[in-house]
Order: sequence, then structure tokens, then C-alpha cells
Amino acid sequence: MPGTELFGSEERKEINDVLETGILFRYNHDQQRNGVWKARDFEAEVKKITGAKYAHAVANGTAGIATALAASGIGTGDEVIVPPFTYIATIEAVLFLGAIPVFAEVDETLCLSAEGIKAALTPKTKAVCLVHMCGGMAEMDSIMQVVKDNNLILVEDAGQAFAASYKGTSTGLFGQAGSYSFDFFKIATAGEGGVLVTNDEATYKLADSYADHGHDHIGNNRGMEQHPILGFNYRISELHAAVGVAQTRKVPHIREVNRKYKSMLTEILSQTEGISFATLADPDGDSATFLNILMPDTETAGRTVAEFNKAGVTGFNYWFTNMYHFINQWDHINGLKTASKLPAQLLGTPQDYNNLHLPKSQEVIGRLISFGIRCTWTEDEVKALANKIAACAKAAMPVNA
Ligand SMILES: *Cc1c(COP(=O)(O)O)cnc(C)c1O
Repeated sequence: MPGTELFGSEERKEINDVLETGILFRYNHDQQRNGVWKARDFEAEVKKITGAKYAHAVANGTAGIATALAASGIGTGDEVIVPPFTYIATIEAVLFLGAIPVFAEVDETLCLSAEGIKAALTPKTKAVCLVHMCGGMAEMDSIMQVVKDNNLILVEDAGQAFAASYKGTSTGLFGQAGSYSFDFFKIATAGEGGVLVTNDEATYKLADSYADHGHDHIGNNRGMEQHPILGFNYRISELHAAVGVAQTRKVPHIREVNRKYKSMLTEILSQTEGISFATLADPDGDSATFLNILMPDTETAGRTVAEFNKAGVTGFNYWFTNMYHFINQWDHINGLKTASKLPAQLLGTPQDYNNLHLPKSQEVIGRLISFGIRCTWTEDEVKALANKIAACAKAAMPVNA
């Protein structure tokens, strides 16, 4: 959680700017706000790092995905291909827009694969909501080929992949729109926050209106604004945006330190037989928030986790049995449990979510153990951790178990 590791005077200064004026709302009040526009500054910082033409800050990453999908024209009855390894937010965003999630396979990149997407296509497939997991990125060349060949809309949930890129292009900018999360657990945090990016002006304008009840934000009298579309309230507050500004400025430093520590860990661990690593589609674009190790099989991964617990190793996630990120634990998806009826329940779904056949995803996530990289570690701590991981993995290997 690098963002939260580096919370200090810079964040307090930005928050204080807002407190001085008392204008906590991101729009209007031009006189009283004395030139303080933190949501705009937050968007400018995100544009600087990503190279996006347009950025729009919203209340959280989930709202960012929903807005990106809506502004890309995804709605009721549209089939959207999604991964089973993500945060549930991706699936909820699709479902609550009335669209239908269709699960496809991820591979060793931890993201949807081109093959997986192809196998999940139906005549009703409208879009792919691609998720870049654990700080890395999907194999974009082959995925863009499938997207083009099949006339699909691509929306990227880059919730965990801010400051990651593929062959020089930032995650979030390959399709029609993308979204980053700045919640408490990401590379940078706003407390709660999200930023949508796009290079398409029309998509940006729709997103800007959609996230604020359809307001067109032209002029400086909110009451007199036009409303080209209906929308919703996904606005970010100036206080959250202020934190986001200070944190986003720290991201280049965080990424540099992360990369250094990740390569130290990787170098030491590559000498341990049986340990391999998740595929980085572009190693130069890694945001390095996680070290993702792959054990030979699920059983060995399970024994390794047991060894970690015995040895007091912390800071890792075994997503295969962790509540948050893998479909096996999403009992609310399996039964499609909702507070009120959704279009998917009325229209029916092409897949039975209780009986999904995703053997490749089960195999890869079963083998995966992820360590969050901390930019506040010392080099000695990094080496000590690597040695502990290696020892536990060795003890768990089939020949030793
Ligand atoms: C964190 C995350 C989200 C949700 O972001 P919030 O800001 O918490 O709403 C969505 N997708 C992925 C992949 C995430 O990791």
C-alpha cells in the first residue's frame, strides 16, 4: 500500500488549501474558492503520468468503471466479457448498467487472454472489460487484434494498474475509456477516489456529464446548465481530490523504488527451483506493486502458504482462497444475489454462473501467491524476505513435502 505508506505534510498542505476556502464542491463558486480547484489538479496529475488526453475524477474506481462503460455505450442486454480474477466491482459495474457479464479465461499474465476472449464470444458480445491485475498489464497486441477483428468495444478496468504501461502506452488508454482506483489499497490513494481516462473527446464529454446528473458544466451558473443526458452522482469531493493530488505526485518515486525491490526479490527467488513468476506482458511498464510468484501447482502453493504462516511471513495474498479477488469466493455472483431485480435476471444469462468452466483460470490462480511491494522497506528487509520466501517454498516443494 505505497500511497498510505507515504502520507505526510504534502497531503496535509493540499487538504488545508481546501479547508481555507471551505469550498468542498468541485464545481462553481468561482469567487469564494480563490483559485483552488483540486479535482482539476488531480486530473492534471493523472494526465501527466498517463499521457491521457482527457481525465475525469470521480468518487471511486467502481464509479469510474461504471462511467467508462456507460460513456462507451454499454447498456441493457449487452454482453460484456469479463475475467474471473478481478475485484467484484468490475462485475457489479457491468450488471448494474443492465449488461450481462460473460466470464472468460485469464492466463499467466493474470489478465484475460486473447484466446480466452475468443472462446467466450457470442453474436451478442458487445464489449470486453479488461482488467489489468496486480500492477501488471494484459498482452495488449493480441487482445487488440481480437477486439478489432470482432468490432468490440474495449473498456479497461485499470483499478490496480495506474502507472503501468504496455510498449509505451499507459494502461487505460487502449480502448474507448479506462478507469483507475485511488482507494486505500492502491499505489496512490485519495482515501476514496477514481479517475476515468480516454483519448476520445465525445466519450470524455459523456463521462463528465454522466458522473454529475447529466450537467454539461458549461458556464459558471450551475442552475442554468444544460443536461444532454441523464446521469448519476459519482462526483469526487475536493477533500478527496486534494489527497489524490499529493499522492499522485509521489507515484513516479514509488514506482521507481517498487521496481528496484521487485527486481531484487525476483533475482534471489529465480534461484529457487520450482518458483516462477507471472508473465509481464511488458516488463518495462510494470508498476511493480506486487511480486507475483507461481508455484508448480495448487497443492504446492497451499503448502507454501502454510509454511509462510508457520514461519511468520506476512504481506502476501493467496487469492485462490482470499475473499476478494477470485470468483470461487463470490457467492453473491454464483447465486446472482441482489437486493432488487436486475436486467440480467430478467433477460437471462448465457452462462450458468454456478457452473462455470474456467480450468485455466483455476490452475493459474491456484498457483499464484502475491506479495505487496513496500517502498518503505530497506534493502536488508527485502533480502531477508526473499530468503524466507525461498526457504518456505523449498520446504513446500513436492520432493520435500
Ligand atoms: C480496487 C479495484 C476496483 C475498485 O475501486 P474502488 O476505488 O475501491 O471502487 C476495481 N477494480 C479493480 C481491479 C480493483 O483492484
